[in-house]
Amino acid sequence: MFARASVFNADAPPRSKRPLRVGAPQVAFFKTIDGVGLRLTRYQGGTKGPVVLSHGLGVSSLIFSMDTIETNLLEYLFAQGYDVWLLDYRSSIALPAATLQSSGDDVASKDYPAAVSKVLELTGAKSVQTVVHCWGSTTFFMAMLAGLEGVRSVVASQIATQIRAPFATHIKTGLHVPSFLKAVGVESLNAYVNNHEGLLGKIYDGALKLYPIELKNRCTNATCHRITFMYAPLYEHANLNEATHDNLHEMFGVANMKSFEHLQLLTNTGHLVDFDGHDVYLPHLDRLAIPITFIHGAQNECFLPERHGDHDERSGGSERDQPLQTPRDSGLRAHRLHLREECGERCLPLLYWSTWRQPSRS
Ligand SMILES: [Zn+2]
Repeated sequence: MFARASVFNADAPPRSKRPLRVGAPQVAFFKTIDGVGLRLTRYQGGTKGPVVLSHGLGVSSLIFSMDTIETNLLEYLFAQGYDVWLLDYRSSIALPAATLQSSGDDVASKDYPAAVSKVLELTGAKSVQTVVHCWGSTTFFMAMLAGLEGVRSVVASQIATQIRAPFATHIKTGLHVPSFLKAVGVESLNAYVNNHEGLLGKIYDGALKLYPIELKNRCTNATCHRITFMYAPLYEHANLNEATHDNLHEMFGVANMKSFEHLQLLTNTGHLVDFDGHDVYLPHLDRLAIPITFIHGAQNECFLPERHGDHDERSGGSERDQPLQTPRDSGLRAHRLHLREECGERCLPLLYWSTWRQPSRS
């Protein structure tokens, strides 16, 4: 028997949040060449950078600035003197565009060029540095391979040009069964759920309760269950503090089915291809000749670390381009680095050391 799932009470007063240790932000709204409205939020902690942070699928830039952990990545970089730019591209749940059906090619060919040129325009800098995570990383590498210019280094989290998923994830999660879901009329998956959920949502969550993933990690949080169904277990519950776990609905929301379809294709193919399956990206590995640092959770159940840095040999990469894995004995799945305070202590210095101390080409 399972406990009744708990849902976010949308009628409750707003929770009190910890003030972030950053200055007031500057927000820039801008449009892509196909007219989609995107957002950049700037926190100027100093003159280092500019560094652009790019989130994953079904979330927003809030993953870098959540107040429920002691020091988030935004605060860390701000304190280190970086000019930090949080990017919300078209898959961001903070934007109306999140419900649009969009492929990785759309993000790569339209969002990244517009975002990088906007940052260069507003800062006067010649190039940017980037921290990219999950779908933000997949699409970043597509963008670079398609000829994106103005980026001088990247820290890539969990996925890059080669993609391999654990078998269990491959067969059990929404991430890998989009054609089935689309066939039954599902246009998007949403991790957000509240107490006003309609009958369809209740049926959905009832089905998820029987879903055979991660029984040992089972909790009663409905959003948490949906996250596991959509992507695979993304975190060890022991590594999430209560405030973060209780407020997952703030960070996770809708993800469109076309992105899931593209991800399924990438996983089946094993490397980057366009939405139609054409091998348009990997023939241009020479365009990745910038310092790259890979970070991958050793126990990541969403994507396996083995192939994360595989493109290095073909692109003439060096030892420093090998993926940095969290120690296997650390018990970290580390798909969502930002959620793990324990990982944060380990990984943030790695981010700093690995990338921002490497010689820049600009
Ligand atoms: Zn949970």
